[in-house]
This record gives sequence, structure tokens and C-alpha cells, in this order.
Amino acid sequence: MEKQIKYCVTADIDWANEKEIKYMLDWFKKNKIPITVFATHDSQIIKKSFKPKDIGLHFNFMNGDMLKVIRKLRKIYPDSYFFRNHCFFNNTPMLIELHKQGFVFDSNICTYMADGLKPILNCAGGQSYPVFLEDDVLLLHKNMDKEAILNKMSSEGLKIINIHPIHFYLNTPDMEYYTLNKINKIPYEGYGIRTLFIELLLTLKYKGHKFVTFQELIR
Ligand SMILES: [Zn+2]
Repeated sequence: MEKQIKYCVTADIDWANEKEIKYMLDWFKKNKIPITVFATHDSQIIKKSFKPKDIGLHFNFMNGDMLKVIRKLRKIYPDSYFFRNHCFFNNTPMLIELHKQGFVFDSNICTYMADGLKPILNCAGGQSYPVFLEDDVLLLHKNMDKEAILNKMSSEGLKIINIHPIHFYLNTPDMEYYTLNKINKIPYEGYGIRTLFIELLLTLKYKGHKFVTFQELIR
């Protein structure tokens, strides 16, 4: 057997509705693959499916007052202690403020299947765990080549995977489809992001690789 690798699947919720979140979580539950969510808003399905400490936060610092944004989301999920920001927004005042508020772990760096990733000691003194593979980065690069992606996935280094409930639900094949269907929400019936990720994850699972939550990874 190939060397066993640990994969960590995460999802940035990005204000998806309950139906879309449930659709994604149900698939992971059914296939016994753990997933860690980074929440954006009050969601009963998230609160029901995870322990309070196991939910990460996905702050939107693209506009608005930083402290207000932190306060608002922390009020909904007061036990969270790790984060990843919307659009991977990053700067030193934000890192320092969140660190001060107990957020010593983040997954707030995005790569395109970079080799040899490892946790990075950031300027605030916390640990940043880079993302290896993300659905909309694949869409950006128009990369649906399962075999080439699987090949990269067997390389050395951290393997954090990030998906979005809306792309999983819509089975987004490309950004044009997403733009045209994000309002009427008609899932794509051909080969899209959902079919690709399902094939990738099940292939890794059947090869005997291990899936862990983000909390297990940072432990
Ligand atoms: Zn986001």
C-alpha cells in the first residue's frame, strides 16, 4: 500500500442556506469522512451537527469595522478558537487582534496544491495552516483533471482541502455556470466540482488514507 497520508476536509460556509449546508454535511456523514466547517452566520444545522468548540469562524473583513465583525460572529459561536477569513483576507492588525481574543490557529493562506506545506508561525505568534486545495481555485484554473490532482495529492506536506456548500450543491462546472445559476440554484448534471471532489475523496478513502478534522490536525 502507498504511504498513508492525512487529509483534512474543511468548508467555508459563505452564507449558504440551510438546505445547501445540509446537502453537503449529509454526504460527508453518509460516507464517514469528517469535515470541519468555518461558519459565517447563525445556522441551526451547523449548531446541531458540531460541538461548539469544533466550529471554526469565517470572518468577512472585506468591508465593515474589524472589531464589529469579530464581535458579531463570536456572539453566535463563542467557543470557537480557529479561523479562516473570507477571500483569505489577511493583515497584521487583524492577526494580532484575533490572537489576543484566543484565536491562535488559522487556516488563512491559500495555495494551488503547493508541495511540502507545513504550519507557519505567524507574526502574532499563532500557527497558520495553509490550504492545499480549494474548489474555486480549481475553477479559476479550469482544472478538472482528476488523475493529475490525485498525483499532486500524494506529495509531501499538509493536505487541507477546502470546499464551499454552494459549489457542492450546484456541482459547479465553471465560473460562468456559477454566475448564471447562483440565484436560481439549478444543480449541474454533468461533470462538476461535486462529482470531481466525490471521486477524489472516495479514491483516497478506498486507498486507505486517513481523514482528520482541523482540530485533530492542530492537536
Ligand atoms: Zn469565503
